[in-house]
Amino acid sequence: MTDIAANLAEVRRRIADAAAQAGRRAEEVVLVAVSKTVEVSRLEIALKEGQRVFGENRVQEAEAKWPALKARHPDLRLRLIGPLQTNKAKDAVRLFDVIETVDRERLVAALARAADQAGRRPRVLVQVNIGREPQKAGADPDHADRLIETTRRTGFVVDGVMCIPPAEGDPAPHFDRLAGIARRNGLAQLSMGMSGDFETAIRHGATHVRVGSAIFGARA
Ligand SMILES: *Cc1c(COP(=O)(O)O)cnc(C)c1O
Repeated sequence: MTDIAANLAEVRRRIADAAAQAGRRAEEVVLVAVSKTVEVSRLEIALKEGQRVFGENRVQEAEAKWPALKARHPDLRLRLIGPLQTNKAKDAVRLFDVIETVDRERLVAALARAADQAGRRPRVLVQVNIGREPQKAGADPDHADRLIETTRRTGFVVDGVMCIPPAEGDPAPHFDRLAGIARRNGLAQLSMGMSGDFETAIRHGATHVRVGSAIFGARA
């Protein structure tokens, strides 16, 4: 049995240690508990331990799990961290507080229409395909500045940028490159770092780490 409460405590401790090593305060780093494939009874354990920020990567799965929990916990914040199809924009706008995966102009337009209809405008991050991997979502690093500008002009508050570095090799140079994109665009949030590399990400400036398996155990 995965001990979610103990894992959560351990991840929080590791975040605090990595922040301290980097001369940063632990509160500067938000733990996004990635709850894809995790069933509600196990989410409840994390909620009971005070976890309030969660990341899901599928709109439909999130719709099945979160509305009732959100009603019970008004301070809960849900972040979409998976690729978003334009035909799901309406559902995403209704459910998520932050959409981290804005990666193309067509999606910005669809989100704007959906947000106007819903009368609700989530905040967004622009996802950058920092390793230029063909199989990965995200804007090309050379296109990021322009997409950030377009997203802002369309009326969204862009909080920051997000990336998933290549699985192989040292993620640090990729984290630094993402930090550079944030800096030159005046963006405060850097969503980077997962179970395998969140301490490195914190040393390189992450403000949001997205941690799943280190909390909830390995996914099937
Ligand atoms: C699944 C996922 C994570 C969490 O991965 P772990 O290795 O389980 O921590 C983080 N970010 C994104 C975008 C994911 O899809």
